[in-house]
Amino acid sequence: MGLTPERLDSVCVFCGSSDAADPGYLADAAVLGRALAQADLRLVYGGGGVGLMGACARAAHEAGGKVLGVIPDFLKERERRLDVVETITVSSMHERKQIMFDQSDAFVVLPGGVGTLEEIVELLSWRRLDLHGKPVVFHSPGGFWDPLFALFQHTVDHKLTPPAFMGSWRTVERIEEVVTTLRSYPRPGPDRDETVVKLA
Ligand code: AMP
Repeated sequence: MGLTPERLDSVCVFCGSSDAADPGYLADAAVLGRALAQADLRLVYGGGGVGLMGACARAAHEAGGKVLGVIPDFLKERERRLDVVETITVSSMHERKQIMFDQSDAFVVLPGGVGTLEEIVELLSWRRLDLHGKPVVFHSPGGFWDPLFALFQHTVDHKLTPPAFMGSWRTVERIEEVVTTLRSYPRPGPDRDETVVKLA
């Protein structure tokens, strides 16, 4: 555990399921889907056809990219499962998150609501416990995620979270920077001695 994966083949995207979101956020989600396809990176996502999730997955699929959706049976209708992409149906939210985690080498967070928050706080809490070293990149247009980062900093200021936690992720303002930022993470390789690459 605590390892940065050697390979970057699959990228999990956590993002909102609302169709009422800012059209700019929906457009950016589609830009990311196409960018992942063009970079030959498989998209792993929540399996729905709604909101930023649907926009990202449809764009990746239409651009010829590989897509894996993971959706709980009880959400298939509500989140309008995308039936044109490979989808694993699970029975619980916990199972969904575990499979999304296991199937991914890195994570991207786009604007989202409480569901997205739940997913990324768990992911970062696992990072804080050194359970993984997978890259995490936030797309934060206009500082969208700044209130969350301020809350994290608040817990650091009160000595409830170690300061190193604030280095557990990277943030980009422009969606076009996501793939290059993922690729810029140091990785263990044949020409490097270290087996563990600490990102924090
Ligand atoms: P939201 O950001 O609220 O639009 O939700 C984004 C996605 O997170 C949706 O697909 C939700 O089904 C999903 N989600 C919400 N809570 C959880 C959870 N506890 N485990 C896994 N996925 C969740």
